[in-house]
Amino acid sequence: MLTRRTHTCGELRTEHTGQEVVVQGWASAVRDRGGVTFLLLRDRHGIVQITVDERCSDAVRDAAKAVRLEYVLQVRGTVAARAEGAVKDDMETGAIEVVPTEVEILSGTEPLPFAIGKQSEAHEETRLKYRYLDLRRPQLQQNIVRRHRAAQAARSALSELGFLEIETPILTKATPEGARDYLVPSRVHAGQWYALPQSPQIFKQILMVSGMDRYFQICRCFRDEDLRFDRQPEFTQIDIEMSFAPRDLIMEVAETVTRRMFADVLGHVVGEIPRLSYAEAMERFGVDNPDLRFGMELTSLDAVLGGSTFPPVANAVAEGGRVRGFVVKGASESASRKVLDAWTAFVKPYGLGGLLWGKVTDSEVTGPLKKAVDDFAGFCAATGASAGDVVVVAAGSEKAVNTGLGRLRVQVAREREMIGEGFAFAWVVDFPLFEATDDGGWTSTHHPFTSPKPEHVGWLGSERQGEILSDAYDLVCNGNEICGGSVRIHRHDVQEKVFAALGIGPEEQREKFGFMLDALSFGAPPHGGMAFGFDRLMMWLCGTESIRDVIAFPKTTSAQDLMSGAPGPVPPADLVELHVRNTVD
Ligand code: ASP
Repeated sequence: MLTRRTHTCGELRTEHTGQEVVVQGWASAVRDRGGVTFLLLRDRHGIVQITVDERCSDAVRDAAKAVRLEYVLQVRGTVAARAEGAVKDDMETGAIEVVPTEVEILSGTEPLPFAIGKQSEAHEETRLKYRYLDLRRPQLQQNIVRRHRAAQAARSALSELGFLEIETPILTKATPEGARDYLVPSRVHAGQWYALPQSPQIFKQILMVSGMDRYFQICRCFRDEDLRFDRQPEFTQIDIEMSFAPRDLIMEVAETVTRRMFADVLGHVVGEIPRLSYAEAMERFGVDNPDLRFGMELTSLDAVLGGSTFPPVANAVAEGGRVRGFVVKGASESASRKVLDAWTAFVKPYGLGGLLWGKVTDSEVTGPLKKAVDDFAGFCAATGASAGDVVVVAAGSEKAVNTGLGRLRVQVAREREMIGEGFAFAWVVDFPLFEATDDGGWTSTHHPFTSPKPEHVGWLGSERQGEILSDAYDLVCNGNEICGGSVRIHRHDVQEKVFAALGIGPEEQREKFGFMLDALSFGAPPHGGMAFGFDRLMMWLCGTESIRDVIAFPKTTSAQDLMSGAPGPVPPADLVELHVRNTVD
């Protein structure tokens, strides 16, 4: 009969010796050793050994014989110290065992599709189909526990700072975060659709207009984006907004939340977080999410190589491009032709024709770069390279050079194991407000509600539009954005101008954002906020490279839930009711 447990499997220690206990869990190992049966009983809290031997009654010994892997058991028994040779130091409960007086099978199991302890041998699709079995794995359980702790840490830090947890709608109107919407047809309003929120952006800003002062929510967001291995169609954000807060105060709140999460989950103390402007990040690292765990910074070679007549350089310069590179210290010997070819292939998808690499000797640069270097001493002075180094150089459009070299920098550091343990945080601030699109228009770098720097507002609609900087900020950890946000536009006239700059005319503004513009016109306080990408952050806090390891029920890279079978077909009659016609057979 089911009774209350006295202890969890993981908490029994020598101090419990002699106590009668009730433990419940799954049989994670069943070992028969010539008349003695060892059952390892597992729950979320740990594993304890149940030793069934001559100290037990016949009934208990019979019951133990019937136990199979992953049976659910209730065991009553006495905690005993293990004999000296049997103590297991690598097991938290390894100094004791439970000698049962009762073993009750609460539940049996069908043959398992894979062994719980050995999932790495099972195909990921099988593990996702039987996610509940995979989730029995201690490693995944620990990730879920950490996720809970991190969420609680954020909650308590924000509550202490006076933030209110407020829910916003899931069935709503589109929010422009730059992705495609998931749409839900309305049954009641024929031909009308809800959008699932890409973020609560508009609602949280409206909460500021309504005087809520400080808001947060640990919420789900939905973005129908192209597939990528680390992307989920629905993901969790810690979403934050506050009124009457200058930029630095908002960033301080983000730091407080970050510090609390790293301390509570990992006991890690996050130190001072350096700040870089977007321009500086691009100049030094080629990307706006720099990994500061290692050096190998990019150097501008426009001055020292820009005058070269070597066509790959000369052509790039003639087209207004840039010449940049970085030094891989002491790599001359280890960087084989194969490695250098792989680096060259690596940068090509970023729009570069190739990579000019060179090996530095005492007197010259060898390799494809040789033809571009007329002034060896000047080149060494500009790059900081010396004999034994490899220098990789790219010439092309600023965007291609930055992205190609910026990503290659990380790739090379990974390959050469230059990335140390730990966490390197950085703030990136002062992003451009707009990015030019290929068709000659503009798009928001962050989102259209981000405020231009006050001193740049006057440039909206002028030829200086591309130079406008915003009050947006990203918090980067080990080369990944973990939190991003901005001071918002709180004046409806400025908001209208930004929409107009983005090519959103008055009619479209009214139709899509009329309610937002109205709200801004009724006494909106200055406000700003940010959102943490919680799943990505959890990957760091759990030390895993797979986003699926930190989500209880993740989807595949092709947005499927293999356990429930979503997405799936629906009966035609349901579609009729929703006023939707299926165009696929
Ligand atoms: N809504 C933004 C996002 O989802 C974050 C923010 O600006 O608060 O990325």
